Amino acid sequence: MLGAGFITGYPQEFVLAGVIAYLAWQLINLRKLQRWLESPQEEPPESGGIWSSVFSGVRRIRKRDSRRRERLRKVVEDFRQAAAASPDAAVVLRDNGEIAWINSSATTLLGLKHSQDLHQLAGNLIRNPEFVRYLERGNYAEPLHMSSPVDDSVKLLLRVVPYGEDRRLLLARDVTRLHQLEQIRRDFVANVSHELRSPLTVIVGYLESLVDDTETPDDLRRPLERMAQQANRMRLIVEDLLRLSQIENQPGAAPKDQIAVAEMAERMRADAAKLGGEPHEISIEADPTVRVLGDYGELYSAFSNLIFNAVQYTPGGGQIAIRWVRAGGGARFEVRDTGIGIEPHHLPRLTERFYRVDKARSREAGGTGLGLAIVKHVLVRHDAVLEVTSVPGAGSTFSCVFPTDRVRISDEVIVTESS
Ligand code: ADP
Repeated sequence: MLGAGFITGYPQEFVLAGVIAYLAWQLINLRKLQRWLESPQEEPPESGGIWSSVFSGVRRIRKRDSRRRERLRKVVEDFRQAAAASPDAAVVLRDNGEIAWINSSATTLLGLKHSQDLHQLAGNLIRNPEFVRYLERGNYAEPLHMSSPVDDSVKLLLRVVPYGEDRRLLLARDVTRLHQLEQIRRDFVANVSHELRSPLTVIVGYLESLVDDTETPDDLRRPLERMAQQANRMRLIVEDLLRLSQIENQPGAAPKDQIAVAEMAERMRADAAKLGGEPHEISIEADPTVRVLGDYGELYSAFSNLIFNAVQYTPGGGQIAIRWVRAGGGARFEVRDTGIGIEPHHLPRLTERFYRVDKARSREAGGTGLGLAIVKHVLVRHDAVLEVTSVPGAGSTFSCVFPTDRVRISDEVIVTESS
C-alpha cells in the first residue's frame, strides 16, 4: 500500500485509505461477532485472519457451555420427575407462603391443583387452623400431625424444610397405617387392662380376707401375705395402664375448665400425709389468683404423682416444697424435695413407661413405673412441659410449666369438683 503510494506520488492518501479499509474490516467483523453472539445459531460467520481464530474460540466456549446447560437441565428434570413421582406430597413455597410448585401427590393428599393453585397462598388453600399456625410460627423442628383436607380419615405427617434464600419445601406423608397401628396398640393395652382389672380385684379381695382370717393356719399366712402384696401390685399397674390409655385416647387438647391449683395443692398435701411411713415436712406456697385452664381429674392425677414420688423418694423427716406461681407469662407447678436425687443420665428417660432408676426401690415404694408417663401425657394435653433438675443425694425438682393461654389470673371464687 505504501509502495503503491510512492509510485503514484500520494503516499499519505494511500496510507489513510489502507487504515480506513483495515478499520472497516475490523468493524465488520466486530458486527458479525455481535450478531452471532445474539443469535442462537452455532456455526460462526466466515472470516479470515485473527478473526477466524476468535470465532472458533468463541464457538468452542459456546459448545462447552451448551453441553453443560443440557447436563444441568437433565439433572433438574430428573429431580422434578423424582419429586413428581414421590408418594409424599411436595410443595415449594415462597417466603410469603405463595405456592411456587407442587407434585401430583400434593393433589391427592392436600387437595392442591397445579392448574389453579400456583401463586396462591398455601394458608388460604389448606384452611386447617393448626396448619396455618404451624406455617406462620416458623419453627419447624417438630413435624405437624393433621388430617388430610381431602379426606378426614387420612392422617398426615407434615414437615417444612427452609432452603435457599427465601424458599420452603413442604412435605406431607400419609401415616394413616401407622396411626391405625398406634390406635390398635392403645386399644389392646386398654382392653387387656380392663379385662384384668375385675379378676385381680377379686383375687386381692380373697387373699386379703384370708390373711385377716384368724382361722388361717400360721404357716400359710406368710405366703398369703406375699401373694396379696404381689396381686395388689399387679392391680395398681393395671389401674395406671388404664389411666394412661384413657388419657392417650382423649382426642386433641384438654378442656379449659378454670381450676384453682392452690386449693388442689391443699387436698394433695392431705392425701400425701396419708401415705404412711415416716412423715415429711410438706410446705405449700401457692398464688390463689393464678388459675390453670384444664381438666381437673387429669391435673390432679399428674400433680399428685409428683408429690407422691417426692414422698416416696425422700427419706422420712425430709422437706417437700410445693409451689404454684406465675412464670414468664404463664405459670409453674413445682415440687421440690430433699430426697435421694437422680443421676443426670437418667433424666431424659424418666417419662418412658416402666423406666425406673432403681427397680427394687420403686417396687418397695409401691411404684408402677408409669407415674411420670402419665404426668407427661397430661401435660402434653395441656400444652405444658415437664422440667426436671436433680442433684444425686441432695434432691430433685419437678416442674410443670404452663403457657400463657392455659393460665388465667382471677380473684373470683370458684368451686371445683373434688377428686
Ligand atoms: P415409679 O412408680 O417407679 O415411681 P415414675 O414414673 O413415677 O415411676 O418414676 C420413674 C422413676 O423416676 C422412679 O422409679 C424413680 O427412680 C425416679 N423418680 C421419680 N420421682 C423421683 C424423685 N422425686 N426423686 C428421685 N427419683 C425419682
